[in-house]
Amino acid sequence: MAQSSYLNELKSKKLKATPKRLAILRVLSAASVYLGPQEIWEQLKKDFKKLGLPTVYRNLEELVDAGLVSRIIHPNRRLYYFLCENRLQHHHFICVQCGKVQDISFCAEAQLLQEVDQIYGGKILSHTLQVNGLCRCCLKH
Ligand SMILES: [Zn+2]
Ligand SMILES: [Zn+2]
Ligand SMILES: [Zn+2]
Repeated sequence: MAQSSYLNELKSKKLKATPKRLAILRVLSAASVYLGPQEIWEQLKKDFKKLGLPTVYRNLEELVDAGLVSRIIHPNRRLYYFLCENRLQHHHFICVQCGKVQDISFCAEAQLLQEVDQIYGGKILSHTLQVNGLCRCCLKH
């Protein structure tokens, strides 16, 4: 994604386009796999000498809350982050081995809404779904 579209996206989410946020988006965008905060930090340290890991965490979480970055919850219990260009509501199939992230169009939201409404009389505000597995490449090796 182009730098200018990050600026617009940040603006539309009422987040200031700070150099750090833009740099984090740039690092994530250049990666084809999900990255851990530590890896992102390593790459940013070249440009931001005094940058601490907690600041990277905080900025990542702000970008997640704004819906610009996806949080990946790995079965190894570590947190990773991924920048998906697909801005439509969707879910991810992640490879636990190589870090590849693929979009899944399946979503059972309609059935979930119905079940929660009919059985529990409740209302769904949001839901998360992440499918963990091995990608085609990793399966072959
Ligand atoms: Zn894989
Ligand atoms: Zn996606
Ligand atoms: Zn869904």
